[in-house]
Amino acid sequence: MRTGKTPLLEVLDWLYPPICEICGLGLSEGKALCEPCAERLPRIVTPFCDVCGEHFQGLIDGPFDCPNCNEISFHFEFARSAMVRSDATLNLVHRLKYGKEIHLGAELGRLACLAFSDRRLAVALEEKWPLVPVPLHRSRQMERQFNQAEEIARSISIETGLPVSHLLKRGRRTETQTRLSRKQRMENLRGAFKLREPLPENVPPGYLLVDDVFTTGSTVDECAKVLRKAGAGRIAVLTVMRG
Ligand SMILES: [Zn+2]
Ligand SMILES: [Zn+2]
Repeated sequence: MRTGKTPLLEVLDWLYPPICEICGLGLSEGKALCEPCAERLPRIVTPFCDVCGEHFQGLIDGPFDCPNCNEISFHFEFARSAMVRSDATLNLVHRLKYGKEIHLGAELGRLACLAFSDRRLAVALEEKWPLVPVPLHRSRQMERQFNQAEEIARSISIETGLPVSHLLKRGRRTETQTRLSRKQRMENLRGAFKLREPLPENVPPGYLLVDDVFTTGSTVDECAKVLRKAGAGRIAVLTVMRG
C-alpha cells in the first residue's frame, strides 16, 4: 500500500508502529491520538468570554464582565482557544514542548482547528489571514531545536490552507514566565518582539497569532502590539488550550 510517506518514515512506522499517545492503542493512520481519546479531551464550548476565551461553567445569558480580562484592553480583537485546560491536553503540550515529541505538533494543530467552529474565525478562513506563530528567542529555539508554536501553525496551515507568516522575531531573551504575575509578565515582555520584515505592501485584512497556550494573554498581546504598530488590520489569536 502506498502511504505517501518517505521510505524512511515507512521503515520507522514498521519499527515503531504508531500508537495512541494517551491509551497506547495501535493506530493505522498518521495520527497521534485514537478517535475516542481525541474526543474525550475537553473542548471550550459556550459560554466563554468573547475577548480572552475563558470558559465559564453554567448558563449565562446576555453580556457579562469577565473577571479575567475586564480591566485589560488587548491589542488583539479576541483570543480563542480550542481546549479547556485539562491534565491530558496539558500533558500533550508539555510533551511537545519539553519532551521534544515534535510529532505531537500535528495533533495539537488539528485540535486547535476545532476553534474554527467559532463563527468569528470564519472570516479568517475566507480572507486567508496569515498564521503568525509566536516566536522563540533564537538561543531558546536552538536549545529546543524547534518552536512549538511554529509546529502547531504548520499543522493548522495543512488543515486549513492558511499561509504561515514568520513575521515576528524575539529581540531579546526573556525570563520564563510560568511563575510571574500578569504585571510581571508584561514588564518581562516589554519590547521583546520585533518585526522580522515590514508588512507586505498589500497588507492582508487580518492576522491570526498562533501559540500553544493562552494564560494571561500578555505574550500574544505584546505580539499583537507590534503587528498593530506596523499597520496590521484585524488581529485575532488562536491557541490550542486556555491555560
Ligand atoms: Zn487512545
Ligand atoms: Zn475574558
